[in-house]
Amino acid sequence: MNCPVCNAEMVEDDFGGLSVDVCKNGCKGIWFDWFELTKLDEKNEGLGNALQEALGYERSNDQHRGPIKCPKCKLPMHEHVYSSAKEINVDECYQCGGFFLDSGELKSIRESSMTDAEREAYAAKLLENIPELAQARDNLEKEKARTQAIRNLTKFFRVSYYTTGK
Ligand SMILES: [Zn+2]
Ligand SMILES: [Zn+2]
Repeated sequence: MNCPVCNAEMVEDDFGGLSVDVCKNGCKGIWFDWFELTKLDEKNEGLGNALQEALGYERSNDQHRGPIKCPKCKLPMHEHVYSSAKEINVDECYQCGGFFLDSGELKSIRESSMTDAEREAYAAKLLENIPELAQARDNLEKEKARTQAIRNLTKFFRVSYYTTGK
């Protein structure tokens, strides 16, 4: 699979118990597969190689890079920006449910010390956006799975995750 930002070949790696695709040869962005996220359970799997490395990258996302296309579906992704002085953004594909995180995003998330309440607010904001697919199919199961995926993704946005693994 090629990176949606810089087109370099992405490499599979471990991320807190998940298998993710990392743009190791390019911009260092991380792709989260929707299915991977939904099967993440609550037990502490450790940080994983990809997460550990991600924390070492300086943030290099271009705020003006414009919309990107899903590396799997080739459809435009939807940007979700968290901006309470913290510019965290993830791109979500409403077709396959995958998420793309720019490099260094996790590092800035950790350093900005997002509180549990802030993380909840961000998850709620993501959930407010109704994906076209779920809407079109009126598929409750799909919507439930998306909720789970978003909750699991934002789990990594919590500072305590890096200290206690929860
Ligand atoms: Zn890249
Ligand atoms: Zn997609």
